[in-house]
Amino acid sequence: MLSNRPSLQKKLNSILVKPAGPDCNMGCAYCFYLEKAELFSESRTHRMSENILEEMIKQVMSQGEQQVSFGWQGGEPTLMSIPFFEKVIEFQKSYGSGHSVGNGLQTNGILIEKRWAKFLSTYSFLVGLSLDGPEHIHDRYRLLRNGKGSWSQVVDRAKLLLDSDVEVNALTVLNDYSVKFPEEIYAFLKSIGLNYMQFIPCVEKDPKDPSQTAFFSVSPEKYGEFLCKLFDLWKADFVENVPTTSIRYFDSVFYNYVELPAPDCTLGKSCGVYVVVEYNGNVYSCDFFVEPGWKLGNVMEDKLIFMLNSEHQKKFGQKKAALPRDCKECRWLRYCWGGCTKDRQNNPQEKSMNYLCTSYKMFFSHSDAQMSKMAEEWKGQQNLAGKKQMGREPSLTASNKIGRNDPCPCGSGQKYKKCCGKDS
Ligand code: SF4
Ligand code: SF4
Repeated sequence: MLSNRPSLQKKLNSILVKPAGPDCNMGCAYCFYLEKAELFSESRTHRMSENILEEMIKQVMSQGEQQVSFGWQGGEPTLMSIPFFEKVIEFQKSYGSGHSVGNGLQTNGILIEKRWAKFLSTYSFLVGLSLDGPEHIHDRYRLLRNGKGSWSQVVDRAKLLLDSDVEVNALTVLNDYSVKFPEEIYAFLKSIGLNYMQFIPCVEKDPKDPSQTAFFSVSPEKYGEFLCKLFDLWKADFVENVPTTSIRYFDSVFYNYVELPAPDCTLGKSCGVYVVVEYNGNVYSCDFFVEPGWKLGNVMEDKLIFMLNSEHQKKFGQKKAALPRDCKECRWLRYCWGGCTKDRQNNPQEKSMNYLCTSYKMFFSHSDAQMSKMAEEWKGQQNLAGKKQMGREPSLTASNKIGRNDPCPCGSGQKYKKCCGKDS
């Protein structure tokens, strides 16, 4: 229980929820979350009860901001099946009068079928679909429980979701193999209409020898090369200075260039601005720190807003802000802020330095001139329009100019998200 009522500086506007805990219907070789089953060994299957779901949503609606978002992830959240998510909507409606509510679902896609697609479209869920690229890349590690590849199923699900007008982002894990193929991955995701991309570098310790990274982790040099090449591909697709694809890391770095809070928590000065709720109501500091030391409480006993503003969560956020000397003296500090705490802890060589520091230095050196130019242009436009105000979204991303469901400007008659995004 939280003893003292802390000051409530941090606003509750988003939470991550793991309604099926670490349970998953796949067996990806690089997954870090399956190990978490050991933390929840009280049962073999883990499912959030209706009581916990109701209490959690009630709290978010009464303690949260005007706009709140729920990120449903796992493990694999679709294991909860559609009736659970119908309850989600029912509770959000009954407790959420006056609130604007967003839902995101992060899924491997395997269980998605027509009824799911209809449900997700009806309630405007933003889906993050795990897809690592073309078949030889995706099936390297993203395997079904029977050891077979999952690529063809996932691509079918991507098409079904897009055809059902569901907003879909690609969540693409970069590993020792896939990091060699930036052109192929980028072209493939675009070719199936996934123009919104998030790349997640895989950095895990080798469980047998924690002084090494696991063999499937990206190497810092290769990840740096990947980012530089991807940046060139992304820039080459600009039309009239506006991106036609969205890459979350680049979009977030741009926020730092124009001195606005970056949406990606790894690019902030400190972190701890959201919490994670596990299937049993336990609340933790971050998705990567679901472990006893970073347990903040339980929704059935404590209030989310107090847990978010607790001393313990503050301490967690400050871990990121406690930078090593190299970072403090680094010319890229104000764009990078030392990266994610997890990648400092998972650095087998030097605990306080980010394992991906070399990658970041390569990327910032490569992109700085163009990012600076884009930032200057954006600031100039803001001044010209007399509209500069903190908190306003930079109009960098494709979505700000053309809606994903708008007709493509190339004149094909297809929706923008399924076409090339080029002006005829
Ligand atoms: S530890 Fe990393 S992922 Fe977690 S909140 Fe901090 S920056 Fe974000
Ligand atoms: S580039 Fe490296 S040294 Fe510079 S701030 Fe980022 S992690 Fe620190």
